[in-house]
Amino acid sequence: MAVELSESFFANVGGWEAVKQAHSLLRRDAVFSSNWAPPLLKGVVQEGGTTYRAGLVIHGTVDVENICTCRQARDWGTICAHSVAVGSRYVLKADANAVSAQFMTIWGTKGEWREAPRLLDVKPNLPADTTVQVIVDRWQDSLRVKLGANYVVGTVLQPIDALDAPQRQQETVLGDLVADAIRLGTGSEIGVINGGAMRLNEIIPPGPLWYYTIESIFQFADETRIVTVSVSGQRVREVLENSVSERNFGSGGFLQVSGIRFTVDRYRTSGARIAGPVTTSIGNTLYPDQLYRLSLPAYLACRGGDGYKIPEAAEACASAASGPRVADLVVAHFGQRLGGRIAPPTGPRIIIR
Ligand SMILES: [Zn+2]
Repeated sequence: MAVELSESFFANVGGWEAVKQAHSLLRRDAVFSSNWAPPLLKGVVQEGGTTYRAGLVIHGTVDVENICTCRQARDWGTICAHSVAVGSRYVLKADANAVSAQFMTIWGTKGEWREAPRLLDVKPNLPADTTVQVIVDRWQDSLRVKLGANYVVGTVLQPIDALDAPQRQQETVLGDLVADAIRLGTGSEIGVINGGAMRLNEIIPPGPLWYYTIESIFQFADETRIVTVSVSGQRVREVLENSVSERNFGSGGFLQVSGIRFTVDRYRTSGARIAGPVTTSIGNTLYPDQLYRLSLPAYLACRGGDGYKIPEAAEACASAASGPRVADLVVAHFGQRLGGRIAPPTGPRIIIR
């Protein structure tokens, strides 16, 4: 028979005093985790600086065993407030790449429900939930099978801002590095990547940079493949106008670039914001009729992603599925071309005024 974890159930087995104290623990955000897999209810509660693994084995409405590690449970065997507290209803939602979680505890009874929201930092000192750990281990095993062993690609010399927002509105060190990897890895004159393709959303600290971190930057690593196409200087300019258009400036369609330099006047009308000539890195103007080799993600070149229109790409797009993965180009760039020394490349490339 399934037992409902109601307030009256807890009052029956533990007494109202325990229920009252449990509410007090909930209000103080002392419940760190809670899991109910009948017959086992378990969780982690902190009180007075001590962390308890609390919980109950519930075989029936009166057949209840307290497994809390606190003194009251061990010495007296009675149902303590810790175990009642972990029996309250909760909702957990991952937050910000799972570096934090929204932990919402709900308790009370019909007509009088209360809630206590809490932002939980996911830190190494947070006790692992054994049920979840099994699932995490299974995923990580499958990741290792797919990617092979993790290894250090190089050393980051200065912190790299890999938060999402900057990639979508201004030139960034990460954007420069990735666009360089695309341009140099394909032997093109121009390399670009849309800011929305980079989704690590963290600051990469100085020190060793791991291969898995590079894979993590590209949310759709297998789909983020590069195609190379010959386009006119005029087309390059149109592509850049789309990058800083009303639609894309500040959004995922904003481009990080390599091999070119230009100025953006953000107060001009959308579609006419590139001020002055687009030049190469060394200052030579791109001619409207001359052809340039441009390398960019297939999403932009082949699928019209973020409103990009590049009809010249049709042929290259036929074999887009076998184009190089951006993650592989970045690994090769950092490891081989830069010799493992990952530092800000030369700029500026996109001057915004
Ligand atoms: Zn206890």
